[in-house]
Amino acid sequence: MTFVPMMGGKLAGAGLIMTIVCPLASAIPMSALHYWNNARLRLARAEATDARDKLAFAYEQLRMSSRLDALTGILNRATFMDELDKASLENQSGGLVFFDLDHFKTLNDTYGHATGDAALRRVGQLISRITRDGDIAGRIGGEEFAIFLPSATRQDLAEGAEKIRLAISDLTVTTTDGDKVGLSASLGVAYCDTGFDPSHMLQIADGNMYSAKRQGRNLAVI
Ligand code: GH3
Ligand code: MG
Ligand code: MG
Repeated sequence: MTFVPMMGGKLAGAGLIMTIVCPLASAIPMSALHYWNNARLRLARAEATDARDKLAFAYEQLRMSSRLDALTGILNRATFMDELDKASLENQSGGLVFFDLDHFKTLNDTYGHATGDAALRRVGQLISRITRDGDIAGRIGGEEFAIFLPSATRQDLAEGAEKIRLAISDLTVTTTDGDKVGLSASLGVAYCDTGFDPSHMLQIADGNMYSAKRQGRNLAVI
């Protein structure tokens, strides 16, 4: 309506129709395009939020799995040691139970490594089942495991170690031929007072474990 008279035209007839029809004709598709773009933007934002949540979940799973031993599902050595350090720094006392499966090489040599792996998995499942919230349990080496029982008294510790020994000696593993084989472990136990040195306590427990081996295996030495 401004430009038609400026260009020498008259706001009547075709000029008037153009000033009404042209904006309307362009506004309808432009609005539709704008609305469609907005809808696409909303969808893209929702997808980005979803992808970010999935990434955070995957990252958390990765973080958790990097703390665990892949075969047994309990803590790996590094994480176990970190958690034991933390317990010591938090001034916790408790009991350290370190154990090594008996004659494991013979099991591997006789029935194959797949059976040996199945045995390690069974022990991992057992440990997950018998430990309570707050206990720290890890696979320290090949067929060596450790459990820290926070706040356990010397009496609790003796009973707890014996329970673990019996539970392992009750385990059986099905070999690849379908036979059932029993397991046993030798346990070295050490009582940890507040402010304990984790490496030193592991050494003591390890020494006790070897003492159990020398005394005939399938035994807990405190
Ligand atoms: P002892 O009663 O004195 O402890 O005898 P042992 O045969 O258990 O001790 P040794 O240290 O000679 O054998 C440990 C074996 O554990 C040897 C190794 O092949 C096996 N081992 C270590 N890690 C794994 C594993 O991840 N899978 C399997 N199947 N075997 C493993
Ligand atoms: Mg060993
Ligand atoms: Mg062994």
